Amino acid sequence: MSFLVVEGLSLSFGGVRAVDDVSFTLAKGELLALIGPNGAGKSTCFNMLYGVSRPDSGSVKLDGNELVGLKPRQIWRLGVGRTFQITATFTSMTVCENVQMALLSHANRTFGIFRRAHDAYRDQAMDLLDIIGMRGQADRPTNVLAYGDLKRLELAIALANEPKLLLMDEPTAGMAQPERRSLMKLTADLVRDRGTSVLFTEHDMDVVFEHSHRLLVLNRGRVLAEGSVAEVRADPKVREIYLGG
Ligand code: ADP
Ligand code: MG
Repeated sequence: MSFLVVEGLSLSFGGVRAVDDVSFTLAKGELLALIGPNGAGKSTCFNMLYGVSRPDSGSVKLDGNELVGLKPRQIWRLGVGRTFQITATFTSMTVCENVQMALLSHANRTFGIFRRAHDAYRDQAMDLLDIIGMRGQADRPTNVLAYGDLKRLELAIALANEPKLLLMDEPTAGMAQPERRSLMKLTADLVRDRGTSVLFTEHDMDVVFEHSHRLLVLNRGRVLAEGSVAEVRADPKVREIYLGG
């Protein structure tokens, strides 16, 4: 049975239908890549799934719960995680402290008791740092990290919420190809080990083909194609519009 069911999602800006009647499903433990040219409507779709934008019409059901109309925080509480860029406020903390903060927040503690509870989540945070291969950097300040490490840390922070669905809009933006591959490999391993469902966008088709279970191709706000990597690669419409023949 599908874990996420998106039906007839549409949103216009002015006269432009940025997302036009988009429907798709996502199973438990599935890695679905949302691809398409710039302006295809990928980020607009993510924003509606996060609860940041409200669709003009359509429905988003997660495990039977309607997400349309809920606030981002309510959606987060239902187990939808996303990667956020680490902002200046948090770069003064160490790598481990950033993950501890996220764990605290997941446990619904308040920011105010962070100092006292500082040690409480250290072990759990270190376990997450093991997953992303950053235990050795736990006590370094975040602001000295290499860009790729910062991106992996953002993934660990998203994982602290134990998401059932992880939404990643261009998680590898700005990364060099070897780092991009390694972040997506890490994500694919997580899906396998934890059964997390992942929806992600990625420009590098080699990385997409290597790591996704299924692809959804958008063009001008509409679904152009959907299927396995082999099916989508062989689709003449996709080849013409996106893959360049
Ligand atoms: P993608 O992420 O696939 O590159 P977007 O979802 O960002 O595409 O954009 C889809 C279309 O919607 C584009 O034509 C874009 O210009 C338009 N768009 C996106 N966000 C807004 C907005 N806040 N206001 C007006 N137009 C927008
Ligand atoms: Mg985008």
